[in-house]
Amino acid sequence: MLALDLPSLLDPDSGATPEHRSEVAHIKRFLEWWMADPAFRAALPGDPVGVTRAAGLLADPLAIRPLWEFDRQHPVHQQEPHPSVLRYRAFMREKLAHREQMQRVGSHHRGYQAWRQRQIRRCYGQLGPAKGDALVHAGAAIELCQGCSVGCWFCGISALKFAGIWPYSSENAALWKQVVEILGQQMGEPAGRGFCYWATDPLDNPDYERFCADFAERLGHFPQTTTAQPMKDPARFRKIHAMARQHSHSIDRFSVLSLGMLRKVLAEYSAEELLCVEMVMQMEGAWASKAYAGRARTLPERWAKSAGQAAPDPQDTSTIACVSGILLRMPERSFEWITPCPADEQWPNGYKVLARHQFAEGPEFAAQLQATLARLPERLPLDQKLQIRKDLRVLSSEKGFALEGTFWRHEFAAPPGLGPLLEAGQSDPMELALALEERLPMPETLALLHNLFEQGLLEETF
Ligand code: SF4
Repeated sequence: MLALDLPSLLDPDSGATPEHRSEVAHIKRFLEWWMADPAFRAALPGDPVGVTRAAGLLADPLAIRPLWEFDRQHPVHQQEPHPSVLRYRAFMREKLAHREQMQRVGSHHRGYQAWRQRQIRRCYGQLGPAKGDALVHAGAAIELCQGCSVGCWFCGISALKFAGIWPYSSENAALWKQVVEILGQQMGEPAGRGFCYWATDPLDNPDYERFCADFAERLGHFPQTTTAQPMKDPARFRKIHAMARQHSHSIDRFSVLSLGMLRKVLAEYSAEELLCVEMVMQMEGAWASKAYAGRARTLPERWAKSAGQAAPDPQDTSTIACVSGILLRMPERSFEWITPCPADEQWPNGYKVLARHQFAEGPEFAAQLQATLARLPERLPLDQKLQIRKDLRVLSSEKGFALEGTFWRHEFAAPPGLGPLLEAGQSDPMELALALEERLPMPETLALLHNLFEQGLLEETF
């Protein structure tokens, strides 16, 4: 049960009535159209019921006015919200809790667990609280195709042109089962919350669901699907979504590229069918923002036309990458170790690549992954020079020093001198502790340095 004694809508067996599911599904559909269509947004306040019915939407726009009307002087906001609003908000809270839970999963590998936590904290600092919440830091993304057939101009991870699939042949299937098992054994739960696409569209591979079924059998979760091809084969998508819902209560996603495509999607699928399918609105005029990352960065004029403003300042870029772990490319038999960051000159696709490997067979993959994981320190490494993250400014403060970034400021009590020493990045922890010994006992300096490390405030070498 949720707050207000409402049954879960994500759990298909929660006992939620069809009427409850249907009402929330139609509100969701109304808000999707509202997000997507600027003409609908503009016309709605003048004639809410007429405009809603003309768009073929069944939600009651007056009952749910607080969900779409942002005029702060409008008295309706002061009133107790209609029960429909409360039911929709409960559903949204449930989805947010689901996302939070994905971020919170832990790994039995202590080095990986500590490293992933540091990346989560770093991302909150570098990308802000909203993006920090949104990034689930899945442990694995797996490509089953080479390139993507969709070719979006804004692709935040610069997908290459589609060049073929990795078929579910008997040889590939045997390797796949080994690889998935190794991921689970070595990385644990975060890998199980991974997904089988990256700079690819899952539906490009006709064997996608067979790979997903093996993944679910071995790692306990059916991978989440995001596709920009919702109309390619609706019957097939329905089957995949049903498998995901039945196995793992997953939420899938459509990336919707135009209003025309959205019209077709709404005509094809009922509101109830898409209750657990999120719509990512990518069309011009949508009330949604794209990340200035990947291919979008190479097309500033196209970006300006689409966003209605020039490219953001370097400190305001973002990312669509949401993996702190392995990016596995099965067709190439290669993997990278990655973590999200704001897109910049060095990492234009919005994620850092910390290691790259090529493998031929399962045992080689296992050894390489093990070696990669062994390089992730659980605690502050005592043999490395420590440097404050380059996106942070080091300022002296009354107590000691402060670190200031785009979104946060952190204050630390410390003897004068520690801030500049950390900024210079020329000393390891013992050298720093010795330099400050007369003003701060060594264990306290080391504890402070460890705290900076745990908070993800130090540059990490790999
Ligand atoms: S955004 Fe997604 S669908 Fe579009 S090109 Fe990139 S990977 Fe393909």
